[in-house]
Amino acid sequence: EEVQVSSSSNGSSTTTTVVSLDSIINLDHGDPTMYEAFWRKMGDKSTLVIPGWQLMSYFSDIGNFCWFLEPELGSEIRRLHKLVGNADTEDRYIVVGTGSTQLFQAALYALSPPDATEPINVVSASPYYSSYPSITDFLKSSLYKWAGDANSYSKEGPYIELVTSPNNPDGYTRQSVVNRRGGLLIHDLAYHWPQYTPITSVANHDLMLFTVSKSTGHAGTRIGWALVKDKEVAKRMTKFIELNTIGVSKDSQLRAAKILKAVSDTCEIKVDQADNFFEFGRREMSKRWELLREAVKQSGMFSLPEFTSDTCNHSGKITEPHPAFAWLKCEGEIEDCESFLRGHNILTRNGKHFGMDSKYVRVSMLDREATFNQFVKRLSNMHS
Ligand code: PMP
Repeated sequence: EEVQVSSSSNGSSTTTTVVSLDSIINLDHGDPTMYEAFWRKMGDKSTLVIPGWQLMSYFSDIGNFCWFLEPELGSEIRRLHKLVGNADTEDRYIVVGTGSTQLFQAALYALSPPDATEPINVVSASPYYSSYPSITDFLKSSLYKWAGDANSYSKEGPYIELVTSPNNPDGYTRQSVVNRRGGLLIHDLAYHWPQYTPITSVANHDLMLFTVSKSTGHAGTRIGWALVKDKEVAKRMTKFIELNTIGVSKDSQLRAAKILKAVSDTCEIKVDQADNFFEFGRREMSKRWELLREAVKQSGMFSLPEFTSDTCNHSGKITEPHPAFAWLKCEGEIEDCESFLRGHNILTRNGKHFGMDSKYVRVSMLDREATFNQFVKRLSNMHS
């Protein structure tokens, strides 16, 4: 029986991942385990030890409107955005959250008119991130409700549009599509980092969401941040988090600060070196997309989105987008791509969850190397 083996070592210990030919490959979630290989090599530079008596208080910065934000995390967020050039942090308020998932909900709360007779409509252009509809409607709020695909939204009055750029699931750069008076925008910029897309402008939208989950790969730390122009909106988001979880884990915030600091430190050395975090990520993603496109070509059963290259302001290089997900389409007879791939023990997410049809699936590109290699190998051997 054939196996794919990948070993990673940090000097003192080695982890070996073995994926056998018929094992189940789960690429349904965007779990960013690809980055473990980088952080192993960083060793002490990204290690945090917390004595038992520290970080016990609820409070982090009582003088700040966001009283639970650790100042160190706030300053590392500003430093990293400045070095990368992907978002403007000047004259903006930072709200920290338990992942950008909590901040998304805080933003819905903060933007909804408090005294409206009807819930405000929440829209996003399909294919949209599959969690938006379920998170929006989960608690049957009287403040806001999911109203579907922004492309076909034509109602009068106020609305909230979610703009994900680069987009999950298809990886394209996006702008708002409704563009009508009364529109409130949430820009989800989880993937607006140089390993995924050439950074061509400094984002300066009213409300932008970021997360360590997709920037550094620390999804388990559950730290996200919002950059907010309007102080009243930032205050209402803070209020939501205060009532929801009385703040955000300090342990996690300090770990995130340490990780962001380590990333920034690598950005200050030459940007085209592999020990630059984003250059590591870009090379790895570029290699994976090349392998995937080769497998798709060999199989002849699928198609993938195409992207155009651009100059990245961070690296100065001309580079193509390398999305965190592959938006794979079954060409030909197969109507349900997800169940077809499940037949080959590959778990993906059905296109219908993203407001599209079942010919499409979303496949994570961020798993460990051995898993990814086994996936492309299996794909290249499929023929109709
Ligand atoms: N927004 C988008 C577009 C995402 O893809 C994800 C993660 N899959 C999230 C938000 C949630 O991120 P977090 O882990 O920070 O809650």
